[in-house]
Amino acid sequence: MDTRCVLCEGATRLQKHQRYFDILSCLCCGHWFVDPAILSNHLIDNYGDDYFSGGKDGYTDYLSYADELTNRGRQYARRVSKHTDIGSLLDVGAAAGFIAKGFELEGWDVTAIEPNRSMVEFGRKTYDIDISQSDFESYDSDKQYDLVSLIQVIAHMQDLPVAMERLQQLTTPSGHVLIETWNRDSVIARLSGKRWHELSPPSVLHWFSKNSLRKVMEYHGFEQIAGATTTKWISLQHAVSLLGHSQDNATLERISRKLPARLSIPYLGDDLFWALFKKK
Ligand SMILES: [Zn+2]
Repeated sequence: MDTRCVLCEGATRLQKHQRYFDILSCLCCGHWFVDPAILSNHLIDNYGDDYFSGGKDGYTDYLSYADELTNRGRQYARRVSKHTDIGSLLDVGAAAGFIAKGFELEGWDVTAIEPNRSMVEFGRKTYDIDISQSDFESYDSDKQYDLVSLIQVIAHMQDLPVAMERLQQLTTPSGHVLIETWNRDSVIARLSGKRWHELSPPSVLHWFSKNSLRKVMEYHGFEQIAGATTTKWISLQHAVSLLGHSQDNATLERISRKLPARLSIPYLGDDLFWALFKKK
């Protein structure tokens, strides 16, 4: 195969064919990706307003996750503070800035970027967050940040090598990078095979394992200092909707309707993880 790895230029092989797209894997660094040459206008096609409301691969109603995501931001801020002082943060792909807001509540000086205009406007108005409309690859700033966070963002990068350059450029000399993404080596991913929810090109363009992400970041000048499989909290309504419509679930749905809509329960999948990196 002619296509070389987007990260290390190593030779590749066809890993899977999914939804009309070839997913390639690198024989040198192990990275899995969709050939970027066949993609155009990825951001516009995938992260228009449909992605955040009702899109199949996106979020059923992203704005209803506000409290949950803000708490998640606070939780990450506390985790990171075990390893570095509170400082400046750039949150990449911030959507309406919920996670960024969580960091702000924990004392961080927050800047956020997001390609979707509606999300940017909503975040500015509702949460008074400093959000600019931009994708990461073309984001231009002289400022450097103590922390750059990419929460469920890195798998969507259209130009991953340029994104890696941006991470180098935008972090302070001893700065940190926080990444949360999906684990292709998890039990759920392996058991689900082609039906794994993250095998959804072209919304998702890269697939990592804990090891492959560490390798990618090391290759680009960052060492991992912490990380773990994470528990995702989802709303009870969403959890019930995932169960389908069997007889038993109809009863469960009736019960769940009597509970507060915002009640959240942990999603016990093992396929989401976070990792904290420090600039070498
Ligand atoms: Zn490679």
